[in-house]
Amino acid sequence: MSELDFKHIDCRNCGNLIWAGVSATSRCDIKLDTVRLNLVEEVMALTAGLATYQIHRTALSFEATRRTATRMGVANPIVLATHTCRPLTVFGQQPPDYFGSTSQPSGTTSEVPF
Ligand SMILES: [Zn+2]
Repeated sequence: MSELDFKHIDCRNCGNLIWAGVSATSRCDIKLDTVRLNLVEEVMALTAGLATYQIHRTALSFEATRRTATRMGVANPIVLATHTCRPLTVFGQQPPDYFGSTSQPSGTTSEVPF
């Protein structure tokens, strides 16, 4: 398992399910919200001063690279914002499957191993 692979944890402050890992861009520890952002939501996050990251599937999990203007042209990216603590409303959350088995032909479905 690479240090860049993200894993899901409960935020120590607010208890929400978040992703913890290391930015592939800056090598800093980062925490990401699990909610995938669309372009409008990303702009709102950036306006609010949150960094956004595009995630890339790895064998075990995913890596995250900081979103910059030069990467904004990527088609249909999976974008997550840095975690902001909020009251815990959903207990026993499961991490979303961003890389969806639904996009693969049936019969060759591979489980995301986390
Ligand atoms: Zn938190």
